[in-house]
Amino acid sequence: MKSFKDRIEYSVNLIKSSERIAAFTGAGISTESGISDFRSKGGVWDRYRIVTYQEFIESHDARVEYWSMKKELFNEMKGAKPNKAHAALADLENMGKLKCLVTQNIDGLHQDAGSSNVIELHGTNRQAKCLDCGKIWPIEAIQARLNAGEVDPECDECRGFIKPATVSFGQSMPEEEMIRAFECVVECDLLLMIGSSLQVEPAASVPREASAGGAKLIYINRTETPTDNLAEIIFNENAGDVMTALVKGIGRDLT
Ligand SMILES: [Zn+2]
Repeated sequence: MKSFKDRIEYSVNLIKSSERIAAFTGAGISTESGISDFRSKGGVWDRYRIVTYQEFIESHDARVEYWSMKKELFNEMKGAKPNKAHAALADLENMGKLKCLVTQNIDGLHQDAGSSNVIELHGTNRQAKCLDCGKIWPIEAIQARLNAGEVDPECDECRGFIKPATVSFGQSMPEEEMIRAFECVVECDLLLMIGSSLQVEPAASVPREASAGGAKLIYINRTETPTDNLAEIIFNENAGDVMTALVKGIGRDLT
C-alpha cells in the first residue's frame, strides 16, 4: 500500500478531475462524534434486544421496551456534534463538487454540518411520526412526553402509535429514498464511501452499482469490506483526518 501522503495526492487529483461526486456514509463517520456503532461493545445496542417492527405494532410491552431504549439513545445523541469528516463533506457540496450524499445514519449530523442534499436510507431520529395518520413531531416533543412519564406515546389526533421516523428491523426501506439514492450513485463519476463495513444490503450494493456505472471508488473505513477490490484507493485511517487532508488538498482549508 502506498503511503498516506501518496494516497491523499492521488485522491485529490481524482476529486479535481471528477464532476459528479457522490458520498455514501455509515456509522463509522459518526463514531468520532461519540455516537456508538451498532456493533460496539457496551453501547446502547449491546444492552437492549432488537424490537422488530412487527412486535412494535402488535405489543404494548414491546413498544415500552423500544421507547426505553430510544430514550437512552437520545441522551447519547443529544450532545453529539458533527466532526471534521461531516464538515469536509459539507465543504465539498459548497464547492459544487459533491452532488449528493447517501447515508445509513439516523443522527442528522450531516445536516448539522451544513450538507443539504442528504438522502437518509434509514430515516431520521430527529423526528417522530404517527404510524396511522402520518403526523410528524420534532423528536424533542416526544422526548418531553417520555421524560414526563409516558412509556408508549400515542398520537393526540388519532391515538395511533408514534414511532421515531427511522426504519426499524422488519420494516421496508423507504422507496423514494432508495430510488433517489441509486439514481445518484449510478450517475456519479466518483464515489466516496466513508464508514460503512458494507456487510448488509442495500449498503453492499451502493459501491457495486457505482462501479458498474463507471465511477471510481475511494473507500475510507477502519476495517476491510467485501468489495475492497473495487476501490481505486483505500484508507483505513481515521475519516476526519482523511477528509480534512482531501479538502485541504483541493485548495480550501476547513473553517
Ligand atoms: Zn395520528
